[in-house]
Amino acid sequence: MLPEEVLEQASAEMTDWRGTGMSVMEMSHRGKEFSSIAERAEEDLRELLSVPDNYRCLFLQGGASSQFAMVPMNLLRGRESADYINTGSWSKKAIAEAGRFCRVNVAATSEASNFTTIPPREQWSLNPEAAYVHYTPNETIGGVEFHGIPDVGDVPLVADMSSTILSRPLDVSKFGVIYAGAQKNIGPAGLTIVIVRDDLIGEVLPGTPTMFDYGVHAKAGSMYNTPPTYAWYIAGLVFAWIKQRGGLEAMAEVNKRKADKLYRFIDGSDFYSNPVDPACRSWMNVPFVLADPGLDGRFLELARDAGLVNLKGHRSVGGMRASIYNAMPEEGVDALIGFMAEFERRHA
Ligand SMILES: *Cc1c(COP(=O)(O)O)cnc(C)c1O
Repeated sequence: MLPEEVLEQASAEMTDWRGTGMSVMEMSHRGKEFSSIAERAEEDLRELLSVPDNYRCLFLQGGASSQFAMVPMNLLRGRESADYINTGSWSKKAIAEAGRFCRVNVAATSEASNFTTIPPREQWSLNPEAAYVHYTPNETIGGVEFHGIPDVGDVPLVADMSSTILSRPLDVSKFGVIYAGAQKNIGPAGLTIVIVRDDLIGEVLPGTPTMFDYGVHAKAGSMYNTPPTYAWYIAGLVFAWIKQRGGLEAMAEVNKRKADKLYRFIDGSDFYSNPVDPACRSWMNVPFVLADPGLDGRFLELARDAGLVNLKGHRSVGGMRASIYNAMPEEGVDALIGFMAEFERRHA
């Protein structure tokens, strides 16, 4: 979801942005109008996350999936291996891509629990010579989330925050690189946010394409080529919306309340279940299954009739998944719980 207020504003400004006679989509990315939009968005993002001065915020394309390659290309800096924590589907993709560029040490994995837990930090076998440690703070498909930042000493920590960025306050100074595809919690698809510490920029793997070099984008203010201007503009509206709602503390409060009530309902029922260890359940993506999977189709059909859409679980795991990102209002979760209770009453 995107916030209703953001869509309304975009709609009102669609054909004429603030008296310019132009849609944002028609602006030159180097003109003063778009520059003001771009700068404002970056300022608001930096303010929301209290991004320290020694970090660049890049507005790129290619999705989080491109970062799976850009991270090793930029961060190996002469080292031979990188550490990865495997907590599910997205970790696995990042690991597979990094394997094209370096030796990957899977320092910990929760595969044995079918990715329903997070391996305890004491059991990670980190390599002090690793170029970086990569992890996935929120596994979007499995619904597993780290509720704290792992301590990896002086080795740069890299996080794929695609599905959790801006859902709660974050200490950016603990990271070397944070990246996120925008389409989960920020704005439309097509924009990828990368927050990278200055000292990690500037030494890429030989043969790295220009477009895959953080340094190129940092130097050009993310305008080495034409950036995804409309997605950047909408992201800016979302940042302003979050600020107006009280920033990340306020987001966290609502997100926690939404997730807590949905898990409480699921746990209190014999009809629905969630397999994830309660200590690492996601605030953003709540997978659940019905005791009788034969009812899945009926559940989804009636849910859709009730205005509750996109509840089908990822094709790799089946069942259902409620994605309750920042823009999902608490009433949306209440409506889902109400529907689930009624469905159970009728079909249990
Ligand atoms: C959705 C998602 C991705 C893939 O993002 P793209 O922008 O489609 O490449 C990667 N990692 C996580 C954690 C995701 O949720």
